[in-house]
Amino acid sequence: MMKRIAILGSTGSIGKQTLEVIANHPEDFAVEVLTAKSNFKLLIEQASRFHPKFVVISDLAHLDTLQKALSGQPITVLGGQDALNEVVTEKNVDMVLAAMVGFSGLIPVIHAIKAGKQIALANKETLVVAGELITRLAHENKVDLLPVDSEHSAIFQCLMGEQHAEVEKVYITASGGPFRKFDISALQAVTRHEALKHPTWSMGAKITIDSATLMNKGLEVIEARWLFNLKPEQIDVIVHPQSIVHSLVQFCDGSIKAQLGLPDMRLPILYAMSYPKRLNGLFPRFNFTDYPHLTFEAPDSNRFPNLAIALEAMRKGGNMPCIMNAANEVAVEAFLTDRVGFYGITQIIEKTLRQATFLPAAGLSEYIESDREARSIALSFVK
Ligand code: NAD
Ligand code: MG
Repeated sequence: MMKRIAILGSTGSIGKQTLEVIANHPEDFAVEVLTAKSNFKLLIEQASRFHPKFVVISDLAHLDTLQKALSGQPITVLGGQDALNEVVTEKNVDMVLAAMVGFSGLIPVIHAIKAGKQIALANKETLVVAGELITRLAHENKVDLLPVDSEHSAIFQCLMGEQHAEVEKVYITASGGPFRKFDISALQAVTRHEALKHPTWSMGAKITIDSATLMNKGLEVIEARWLFNLKPEQIDVIVHPQSIVHSLVQFCDGSIKAQLGLPDMRLPILYAMSYPKRLNGLFPRFNFTDYPHLTFEAPDSNRFPNLAIALEAMRKGGNMPCIMNAANEVAVEAFLTDRVGFYGITQIIEKTLRQATFLPAAGLSEYIESDREARSIALSFVK
């Protein structure tokens, strides 16, 4: 049966690759909704090619242009953040692929879950901020949360046919980013241009910086904790610079299963969309002799403190990961605009975590308020 997909963030790195996957499988998938924040030019191109029923632009400044450009086509064009919450509940949408970046994905995903839509989740920040709430809502509404993040797709694939009680440990692999071998003084001097050159993955700017600081791995540990109902001590991070082993699961008998493949996000995107089936992937295959050395090493929390900060926020729980996420979003944006250095990111997060109001338990309205408070505190530390 044809699955009709709503792509939140279709103009981003994951969004564009999702459209490639759909173009390769016209019998299996159709585009029902496309959305973007402000890139109306690409959104017009995508809409003209994939014929969705709905197109949403969050930034209202471009709504008029978008409406005019698509006026000859049977497409409903909407604008504003609230429109996202409505389109995801449309009756013809079977699956919502959440590929927005940051906190902005949270509320549309909640609306989609409440409407009973299957969720293919790239937007890891949603689970970092509100993992307990999201997994509970998914359970109550009998909705699958299908991971798109490559590590989580790997774990999900390793868990097929296994019992939850038999899982001893999960190893999340990390490339180590572009600065894996830099010492602290070299790290102090890195520029955003250097940080944006990821050695193995091509991704959006925010996650690329998170990969350079290892915050991305911290976010992924929290994401894994909620997706797979794990205790924090069951999750380990291991640096694997070749990005071929996407993650591993160790079972109670000591056996370890891993999922391997070339670093290509189209594969986890396809698996999330086709699950529980597998479809033919039209991408290049892994060749063992091209990779005679697959290596593994421990992450270094001295040089990359953001990983340890994220693990500590996870252990404290409540709204700590939400505060950390907001501070990180502000700090990464400041780094991307040359207003703070590499370790400035860490300092902003640490200071914000100390000042923001800690709540041991939180619901959606508390997360929204914590996000707002943490952003404003974090911004006060940006020059
Ligand atoms: P990106 O910056 O390339 O794209 C983000 C998309 O979201 C764009 O279409 C943008 O228009 C939209 N968007 C951004 N802010 C928005 C807002 N406030 N309101 C509405 N729309 C908004 O990002 P990306 O690299 O594609 O990453 C998307 C998500 O997927 C992130 O959460 C990231 O951590 C996760 N992810 C990405 C990759 C990857 O390879 N790129 C891998 C794993 C996980
Ligand atoms: Mg990942």
